Amino acid sequence: MKKIGVLTSGGDAPGMNPAIRAVVRKAIYHNLEVYGIYGGYTGLISGNIQRLDLGSVGDIIHRGGTMLHSARCPEFKTKEGQQKGIKQLQAHGIEGLVVIGGDGSYRGAKALTELGFPCIGVPGTIDNDIPGTDVTIGFDTALNTVIDAIDKIRDTASSHERTFVIEVMGRDAGDIALWAGLAGGAETILIPEEKYDLNDIVERLRKGQERGKKHSIIIIAEGVGSGIEFGKRLKEATNLDTRVSVLGHIQRGGSPTVADRVLASRLGARAVELLIEGKGGRAVGIENNVLVDYDIIDILDKHHKFDRELYKLSQELSI
Ligand code: ADP
Repeated sequence: MKKIGVLTSGGDAPGMNPAIRAVVRKAIYHNLEVYGIYGGYTGLISGNIQRLDLGSVGDIIHRGGTMLHSARCPEFKTKEGQQKGIKQLQAHGIEGLVVIGGDGSYRGAKALTELGFPCIGVPGTIDNDIPGTDVTIGFDTALNTVIDAIDKIRDTASSHERTFVIEVMGRDAGDIALWAGLAGGAETILIPEEKYDLNDIVERLRKGQERGKKHSIIIIAEGVGSGIEFGKRLKEATNLDTRVSVLGHIQRGGSPTVADRVLASRLGARAVELLIEGKGGRAVGIENNVLVDYDIIDILDKHHKFDRELYKLSQELSI
């Protein structure tokens, strides 16, 4: 393998830049040529492809977002779109592709692999919903952003004796809500993986008030439903001064944390190693702090493991 490509796709995540940097530097270290594909699969189809050198990825390790930009590209879900992409790759002499992104981006990488073009998936999403890895690039940074917000909301909640409902991202996964809820000392954590009963929540709030609690924080994952709707129902049921904060896209930005920069560097470099070893069609990840890789075609049939123990602990500590 002499020439490889790299792209970022789908929802952006802090840490994509250090992952791109690792791919480019590792490839050049091993005397490969690297091409950046700008704008995800949209840029792949249109041929928005440029050679990257060591300097191209200078001064990006600490930046959120992705220097290669990202996009959602419905055309790439079609065979015609995928064939156009392969033609562009071949026109540039690119023999292997590293795709940094979430579940949808992995499906695109899987489709290319099935058409005979070797791809490596690198898990880049704040949602932590990718199978074959304990954590995804961006998850830790997003958690730190959420924790920062929870801590600030806690200050104002306690001054005004309010109940706050905080809606966080995560798509269909509850990991952001669970980890941030545990670390932020939330009284209640609502996640799509576990059913809830409004009466139980009302009862917990009542008990908390009885023992003199001045405020409560409830974290709701977007996969459960709207925080605003939930806040209305809670207010009707309790008559408590209830406010809702939907954190939204701030969770996707910011300078990547140390954990994300190190993870991105390790996974990006491993992706290049696999291509050099001639092992295309893999998804890289980290399990128990050991780098792993799985068949990208099989991995998408699996589900990211939900940490039920951690959920149980969060309940035990928030009585
Ligand atoms: P993420 O990668 O963050 O999960 P999306 O789900 O939006 O984000 O997917 C990103 C892009 O991946 C889509 O816009 C599309 O171009 C491509 N993609 C998604 N699903 C498929 C699929 N089944 N086959 C081919 N490409 C896909």
